[in-house]
Amino acid sequence: MSHFRIGRVESDTGTAYLVYTEVANWVLLQEGSDLTLIDGGYPGQAKTVLESIRAIGARPEDIRGALLTHAHVDHLGGLAKLQARYGFDVYMDPIEVAHARRDYLQQADVGDIAPIAYRPRVLRWLTAVTPLGVLSRAGLPDAQAFPEPLDLPGRPQPVAAYGHTDGHSAYLANDGAVLVSGDALVSGHPISSVAGPQCIGDAFQHDVDEARRSVESFTTLDATTLFPGHGPMYRGSVAEAADRALNR
Ligand SMILES: [Zn+2]
Repeated sequence: MSHFRIGRVESDTGTAYLVYTEVANWVLLQEGSDLTLIDGGYPGQAKTVLESIRAIGARPEDIRGALLTHAHVDHLGGLAKLQARYGFDVYMDPIEVAHARRDYLQQADVGDIAPIAYRPRVLRWLTAVTPLGVLSRAGLPDAQAFPEPLDLPGRPQPVAAYGHTDGHSAYLANDGAVLVSGDALVSGHPISSVAGPQCIGDAFQHDVDEARRSVESFTTLDATTLFPGHGPMYRGSVAEAADRALNR
């Protein structure tokens, strides 16, 4: 899975890039030559993350720190591999740290997926993500809680968005113009039959009600572009996108 598409949004604080792949997305915030990486795809996508960094004319050595939305394998896997190689710090919501270290795992497992695994869409997805390491339970032993202050290139600001996992975090970038929403609000998913802003399927949510409340909190944001954890970049009012997702 080396195919990716890059969407970008410019601002006074630098450029925000959404790297979109068919299975998972990640984000690069560039300020001068310094980078913040948010999430990093599946373990098997670490090389694709490196390709995407080169594609914007940067180097992995430019990463000053990384952020995690949540500790699922499709967001943490590639990031953990790159952290081990390049040694940058990876920060997240304090609640998510133990999850990232794999003190416990709040991830859909075979029992959650088996009832829907007969669907062609789910089978295709499993075929695509199995070689990328979907079954990996490896964690991020060096996971850290947000420092105070959180001073990273592009000045990302955490927005608590609990529910998909207990400590899931979204991030505002570009002075609040871009919401990096992780899996709290997506614009598509390989196993979803609909396109556009939506909540991820209940089978993949740790706490469905809390996840809904997080999306409700997005309806007060001024962001004008959504960088989701899955699905393409969405340009338009994030508040309206959140509203649409809640009323599907
Ligand atoms: Zn995900």
